[in-house]
Amino acid sequence: MSQVKRILVTGGAGFLGSHLCERLVGEGHDVICLDNFFTSQKNNVAGLLGCGNFELIRHDITHPVWLEVDEIYNLACPAAPGHYQFNPIKTMKTSVLGAIHVLGMAKRCRAKVLQASTSEVYGDPEVHPQKEDYRGCVNPIGPRACYDEGKRAAETLFMDYHRSNGLDVRIIRIFNTYGPRMHPFDGRVVSNFIRQAMAGEAITIFGDGSQTRSFCYRDDLIEGMIRLMNAPDDLVQPVNIGNPHEFTIRELAQLVIELTNSSSTLVEQPLPEDDPTQRRPDIELAKSRLNWQPTIELREGLERTIAWFQQIDISQYRPPTPNY
Ligand code: NAD
Ligand code: UDP
Repeated sequence: MSQVKRILVTGGAGFLGSHLCERLVGEGHDVICLDNFFTSQKNNVAGLLGCGNFELIRHDITHPVWLEVDEIYNLACPAAPGHYQFNPIKTMKTSVLGAIHVLGMAKRCRAKVLQASTSEVYGDPEVHPQKEDYRGCVNPIGPRACYDEGKRAAETLFMDYHRSNGLDVRIIRIFNTYGPRMHPFDGRVVSNFIRQAMAGEAITIFGDGSQTRSFCYRDDLIEGMIRLMNAPDDLVQPVNIGNPHEFTIRELAQLVIELTNSSSTLVEQPLPEDDPTQRRPDIELAKSRLNWQPTIELREGLERTIAWFQQIDISQYRPPTPNY
């Protein structure tokens, strides 16, 4: 195994964070998971609590934290539109103050720090597919802005800490990722459709369902994230990680119905404001610099995700805590 490191994962109890923690603990690293459980449950990391190289801290990243670490993966932030719009001011604080706090810690410890950014920095893109040098088309005053602009500001902070303080920073732009352990009530399209199809309820298509997304399975995403953290020092620039195979939302619904053998019908509901019409990553940079590309296609990833949804007890999942 490579050198053992002390690694902080903020948002480490969430959907992606808990898988990242599992992977890093499995590799023998000393892992600290920090989370305020706004959109996650302790269940996600319960299996790690007995491990000698895993530590769980309940903390809100909008407040400073003092730890000594070698690496930081900064994932703390609600990610689903319903979650991040629940308290938009808090979402912006989490992105911006959270970035300032992890960057300050990284500067003090000379730690390497990775920011979980998002395809939302491209907004509703006029360029397709989206390459890292595209600057995006974000409505700064719309309902998605708390998330999009918060993540854009965090990228700015990461690059400024790099330029001003020589910090080794990484920025991963994550495109729609799904898989086991998504919050069943997060309102995201994959979790909604699977839940609705399993219950035989109508599948809610927002708009006419012609808008597109490119869905990445979580194992591919985690692999890309770890490769980016471990990439050579000169890869200080945003890197897209996602699956370039693009589907309309209607196609996704039909595939979920087929795989769940469901009798659900489709029902159209109003398209939310500023909902991007198309999204597909250009992953040439990740291919050439990280030797990374996705290996799990939508059908296989959905089968695994559906199998997980079929064995969970949905009553164990709470909606977000309302006092933030
Ligand atoms: P998630 O909601 O499951 O995980 C986010 C975690 O952050 C949760 O455990 C939540 O409790 C925690 N958190 C939120 N606010 C916090 C705060 N103030 N202090 C401490 N912890 C806090 O979402 P996810 O899908 O696992 O996303 C993880 C990261 O990846 C996020 O930063 C998100 O923006 C980014 N991302 C995810 C996707 C995706 O498709 N899943 C796409 C783009 C970007
Ligand atoms: N969507 C939908 N029905 C749902 C939930 C979402 O048609 O029940 C659509 C949504 O309008 C968007 C796409 O699916 O066009 C992806 O939505 P999600 O919230 O998963 O992610 P994001 O919009 O942030 O990519």
